[in-house]
Amino acid sequence: MSDPRNASAIDKFHWHTELLQNLDVGLVVLDRDYRVQLWNRFMVNHSGMDESGVLTQSIFSLFAELPEKWLKGKMQSVFMLRNRSFITWQERTCLFNFKPDRPFTGKTKQMYQNVTLIPLTNPEGTVTHIGIIIYDMTDAAISHQRLAKANEELQSLSRTDRLTGLNNRGYWEECLEREYNRFLRSGQPSCLIMLDIDHFKKINDTYGHPAGDKAIRALSSLIQNHIRSTDIAGRYGGEEFAILLPDTADYQAEVLAERLRLAVQALEIVYREQSFVFTISLGIAQASADDSDHDHWLRRADQALYQSKLQGRDQTTLL
Ligand code: GH3
Ligand code: MG
Ligand code: MG
Repeated sequence: MSDPRNASAIDKFHWHTELLQNLDVGLVVLDRDYRVQLWNRFMVNHSGMDESGVLTQSIFSLFAELPEKWLKGKMQSVFMLRNRSFITWQERTCLFNFKPDRPFTGKTKQMYQNVTLIPLTNPEGTVTHIGIIIYDMTDAAISHQRLAKANEELQSLSRTDRLTGLNNRGYWEECLEREYNRFLRSGQPSCLIMLDIDHFKKINDTYGHPAGDKAIRALSSLIQNHIRSTDIAGRYGGEEFAILLPDTADYQAEVLAERLRLAVQALEIVYREQSFVFTISLGIAQASADDSDHDHWLRRADQALYQSKLQGRDQTTLL
């Protein structure tokens, strides 16, 4: 006599089937010729195709979007090696081109999917079929992407000077070190310009600190507009700037420095109905293998700038 408290094997089998049907993952079984043998409700709902419409048909004739060659390769290795195989959304956004369940605030139109391929054996232990499990990863993928974007923005913020939008000193110094090492490896000439506003204290005293800020911002834009996209400008201090010029020899750097100096002479700052002009002093140093390190290179550029100041300002010195 069977125990009436214990459900029958038939009942249990039925429940298993019912649970699988209601599971929020896609379940598909294919035979060795990739013909559909099982298609659960998740697949029906997302593909719009009933089980009766897909049974015994090749999955590749049903879904033209499937990467046939690649997926067959994966499935062949599951058949042969009897190992599971995983496909993540990072590797391939999705296998089946389904729409996500919920409308997301982002613009995603695709369901992100993780997919597991499982070898299914007959009672003799031969792999005769392959099981495909499809997980909807849209939520996780979108959070992941948002986080990555936020991190990127944070990183860019931590590299950027608030007042000018130029690289801040810390990040610029990282670039300087990298550029010096690149110079050592490549031997290509590389130059460094340091520049500083002349008598800036007087500007602040005469026109006020906000006017001084405006001059700093205007000079920053002027620098940005004069350099190449491969050059790296940074705000080194209050009214002091530094520009890295990769693949540039000192005479070319001098041309740029003089262009900057003359453009600054012509730059008029207007603040609250008052206007003023200012000048800058510049120092140039070309990287040398004799520099003990990147800092030494920087100190030489700084010395050049100091000479420009000593010799009367509004000039460029090359050391
Ligand atoms: P020099 O020609 O020798 O460079 O004279 P200077 O007056 O420019 O020299 P110094 O470097 O001594 O003065 C810089 C001044 O810049 C001092 C500081 O109050 C001012 N300063 C620093 N940062 C800022 C800023 O962000 N905004 C404004 N408005 N002023 C700043
Ligand atoms: Mg100054
Ligand atoms: Mg200064």
